[in-house]
Amino acid sequence: MRSIHVLVIGGGIGGLCLAHGLLRAGVRVTVFERTNARTDWLQGYRIHINPHGSRALHDCLPLEAWQRFLDTVSVRGGGFGFVTEHLRDLLRFTASEILPETDPAEGHHGASRLGLREALLTGLDDEVLRLGAEFERYTVAPDGRVTAHFTDGGTATGDLLVGADGANSRVRRQLLPHAERIDTGVLAIAGKHPLPDATLPRVLTDDTNLVLPARRGSLFTSVWHPDPATGSTAYALWGFSDVTATFPPGVEALAGADLRRLVLDRTTGWARGLRDLVGDSDPDTINAIRVRSATPVGPWEPGPVTLLGDAIHNMTPMAGIGANTALRDADLLRRTLTAGDLRTAVHTYEEQMRGYGFAAVAKSLRNARMGASANRPARLALRTTLRTVSAVPPMKRRFAAGLGN
Ligand SMILES: Cc1cc2nc3c(=O)[nH]c(=O)nc-3n(C[C@H](O)[C@H](O)[C@H](O)COP(=O)(O)OP(=O)(O)OC[C@H]3O[C@@H](n4cnc5c(N)ncnc54)[C@H](O)[C@@H]3O)c2cc1C
Repeated sequence: MRSIHVLVIGGGIGGLCLAHGLLRAGVRVTVFERTNARTDWLQGYRIHINPHGSRALHDCLPLEAWQRFLDTVSVRGGGFGFVTEHLRDLLRFTASEILPETDPAEGHHGASRLGLREALLTGLDDEVLRLGAEFERYTVAPDGRVTAHFTDGGTATGDLLVGADGANSRVRRQLLPHAERIDTGVLAIAGKHPLPDATLPRVLTDDTNLVLPARRGSLFTSVWHPDPATGSTAYALWGFSDVTATFPPGVEALAGADLRRLVLDRTTGWARGLRDLVGDSDPDTINAIRVRSATPVGPWEPGPVTLLGDAIHNMTPMAGIGANTALRDADLLRRTLTAGDLRTAVHTYEEQMRGYGFAAVAKSLRNARMGASANRPARLALRTTLRTVSAVPPMKRRFAAGLGN
């Protein structure tokens, strides 16, 4: 392919991974990120990287950045359990059942957003990453070249513009004005509990869990154990989700302590460990979010503008695969761009990306609705299925192989 210049709008997880992949292949790339500092991206939450994400990071990042990513992943906490509200196991996997000894490039990893960000920034200089550049709109010239216009009046022209600008993408709004993001009707309240805490049950300080009570709603718990050498602190993260309409109006604006009270009211009678996890969390870490999701969009005419990650297939966090899908996009687009002419590359990328991207959206929407369900017979049937899987080793192995993918 003739030498091209790729403009990436958004220096988030997908945009930065794509930039590395293109640079490694010798393709000229510039990333435009609206925030100003290299550390502006600071939601300190743990993020699960699955084999799709690991493979993309391994194949796109230079060795130094990949090593930096591996150095910052969580050092413990690999088990996963489905439990009742009384903390009785429905189905539990040990770390080694989920993470058989594999090549790190094919494995699962628990990463902090900050650690992932630092790894993704490794080796990107000011020529490649332009900070403080807020994209406004694009124009396409008759020769097919595309110009990005920024809010400060600046412009940049290239051969391909990639909208990697997240869930509220301006690139998507211009390219696909009919693409919608819906409110799923599910609300999640999330917080953090500092660790160590010897009074909490071991499964809450070591494993990831999904609590499926007999009645309604669900509670997700996870842990972050950094390498002690990094000096950052360990914590357990939790997220309670239920149907938005069952919460008081204006719930998102409530203070952390009031949100904590709401969750405690809804978990009366649950195991003490679960209530302590919520009750002893710092109110400053607790917030409520309305869970939103993209709706699938049919094929569009490929051109000099495309989309990647949350900008096209924003999904609920309830399958833990949004970032992994963004990384998979970055790797796929890097491969198609370095294999053929620009138009074919974009066409091939978009066709494949829509397939797995919207399948991931559908899966995460199902999980969100299942987690918030008040359908008691369906919930009891799910609990019975999980107990059955637990009792039948081949079913359990198959289930483990699909976790987080
Ligand atoms: C609570 C929670 C937990 C999650 N857990 C997981 C998990 O365990 N595993 C997983 O795979 N996914 C998880 N996700 C989803 C994941 O965070 C997203 O899918 C992922 O960040 C998407 O990456 P992206 O590169 O598409 O967008 P982002 O990472 O959002 O990056 C977009 C970038 O574009 C920039 N930008 C936006 N507008 C402009 C503009 N106009 N001009 C210039 N720059 C702009 C933004 O500043 C940002 O840096 C979770 C999400 C949430 C909310």
